[in-house]
Amino acid sequence: MKYALVTGGSRGIGKAIAQELASMGLPVVINYRRDDAAALQTAEEIGAAGGHAELLRFDVSDAAVTEQALADWEGRHPEDYVSVLVNNAGIRRDNLLIFMQNEEWEEVLRTPLNGFFLITRRLLKNMLTHRGGRIINIASLSGIKGLPGQTNYSAAKAALIGATKALAQEVAKRKVTVNAIAPGFIDTDMTADLDKAELNRLVPMGRFGTPGEVAALAGFLASERAGYITGQVIQINGGLYT
Ligand code: NDP
Repeated sequence: MKYALVTGGSRGIGKAIAQELASMGLPVVINYRRDDAAALQTAEEIGAAGGHAELLRFDVSDAAVTEQALADWEGRHPEDYVSVLVNNAGIRRDNLLIFMQNEEWEEVLRTPLNGFFLITRRLLKNMLTHRGGRIINIASLSGIKGLPGQTNYSAAKAALIGATKALAQEVAKRKVTVNAIAPGFIDTDMTADLDKAELNRLVPMGRFGTPGEVAALAGFLASERAGYITGQVIQINGGLYT
């Protein structure tokens, strides 16, 4: 059976993407790092809506832990493979570069980049063997435009975009597509500390986006209909940046 795996799928954008993919009929593996209650609630909501969700808790930035968790899942699912991978887990630790601590730099780069590298490398083999797959990387406006106070986060997301474009060309012949989504301001826990009224003034649509709006795009990219789209970075930002 074909599965979807959404990293950071317990809350925010990842949760909405997990729900969207489940509604398309895919059983979904929800990865998260520590918030068991949120993960459980997401799985229950998907189950109540008629979908299937499994929880897989591991820190995507930790190579040994990630390898073990995926090996365990594969051991429990000898007949199954992940055909849709959404590399969504990411964190913000904003600071001006001049004040930035080593941990703030390293943790913000490690989470999306190690996550992308370790998980994609492991799951790609089955996609190539089955001649089909979808890899969707959640980047950011910050990785395209660069945002002050986010040199770490902008660097991480720009790197993810580069990796998306390179990998897309490596695997296109085997019908595996690799795309990035670059959201602007989306209403989640990650942006809860921002001054929304102030930022809304910068957005032509005058509001933050919803996780569901990002999930709708991810659902399309995951679908059969998006088979000729690869190596792209699709922005979803209410007109904030073009
Ligand atoms: P949230 O903070 O709401 O949720 C983050 C999710 O990622 C949680 O499920 C969290 O799990 C998980 N997570 C964090 N670190 C790890 C880790 N090391 N290993 C496994 N899981 C982890 O974030 P958003 O939904 O807002 O953001 C999702 C993605 O979208 C991120 O990559 C973010 O950079 C990107 N993005 C967000 C924007 C926004 O405006 N919100 C704009 C542009 C991009 P747990 O709760 O267990 O820690």
